[in-house]
Amino acid sequence: MQMSSEPSPIRRRSLRTSADLVAAGLAAPEHKAGLDRVAERTAVAITPAILDLIDPADAADPVARQFVPSVAELETAPEERADPIGDEAYSPVKGVVHRYPDRVLLKPIMVCPVYCRFCFRREAVGDADGSLSAAEMDEALAYVSGRPEVREIIVTGGDPLMLPPSRLADLVTRVARLRHVEVLRFHTRIPVAEPERITPVLAGALKPPAESELAVWVSVHVNHSKELSPAARQGLRRLAEAGLPLVSQTVLLKGVNDDAAVLEELFRALVRNRVRPYYLHHPDLARGTAHFRLSIAEGQAIMRSLRGRLTGIAQPTYVLDIPGGAGKVPLMPEFWDEERGEVTDWRGRRHKYPPG
Ligand SMILES: *Cc1c(COP(=O)(O)O)cnc(C)c1O
Ligand code: SF4
Repeated sequence: MQMSSEPSPIRRRSLRTSADLVAAGLAAPEHKAGLDRVAERTAVAITPAILDLIDPADAADPVARQFVPSVAELETAPEERADPIGDEAYSPVKGVVHRYPDRVLLKPIMVCPVYCRFCFRREAVGDADGSLSAAEMDEALAYVSGRPEVREIIVTGGDPLMLPPSRLADLVTRVARLRHVEVLRFHTRIPVAEPERITPVLAGALKPPAESELAVWVSVHVNHSKELSPAARQGLRRLAEAGLPLVSQTVLLKGVNDDAAVLEELFRALVRNRVRPYYLHHPDLARGTAHFRLSIAEGQAIMRSLRGRLTGIAQPTYVLDIPGGAGKVPLMPEFWDEERGEVTDWRGRRHKYPPG
């Protein structure tokens, strides 16, 4: 008998409705009506790659908790806001957020392959009308072109790596022509959420033109080491091998990664994959996300315990994006006591400085 040739891969589709979730065993049938209401307010999507990471038998699965909607999202806490970090107030033209003098955010596309349940832009993402037309993209780049103080463009969204490689290459080429822009940074969850999109063609599209001095960086959103599947690691390797420096962003989330051992494993895995942990974000005050939040003091205690047990190149900065748009600030635990003239080491022992 002859062996059949490789079966052609079946293109599985993403789960998008509460009926899909119930059918996949990820939601209880009695929650279906509540989840329909969640889906009316915010976009829902779980890609096949993410579905493969979830163990439906594990009620505390850290991947399921991030992507499977919950009826807890129907509760709004008094401190929560539709636009927690004030994107709107700092948007001079559609698709641009300009908060700091030297850098702007550019949001070419507002859709994502998955919708993280804690997302700070959860009320803006998922709307294809929010994406930029060719004319709107021209306007956004004209805004940057007229502002020589802008040194960096941070491409976010939505997920910019949802754009076809030809459009990404076009964006990189156009930015490389803006002489005052030194750095182009892409923020993405694609290597985790839909790693099959990170083809050699896509990685090549992100490379700056040979004659330009533009540096292209990629910042990958990863919250748990489980997310670094073999396919995700291959995607990261392709980006690294295209010469793109990689950094990561992680959101500190209750029930997902609010544990020093879990974060240690994640940050080590990132460094092994040539990704430098950059930011650990305190969760934002997005509506319907109270079940993900912990206190700043809890976050600082975790950061403190990572200090001694984890290589310095795996230590991110713990940051808060101040509600309303005042920007990001570090929330690092304090090791220096000015009043007493003492430093505390990673074991908690105090030392006089300068030594007496
Ligand atoms: C987060 C953010 C940036 C980038 O901040 P970095 O600290 O440089 O990573 C830039 N602009 C806006 C509006 C932001 O929210
Ligand atoms: S991928 Fe990013 S922008 Fe999209 S839902 Fe997740 S956190 Fe939000």
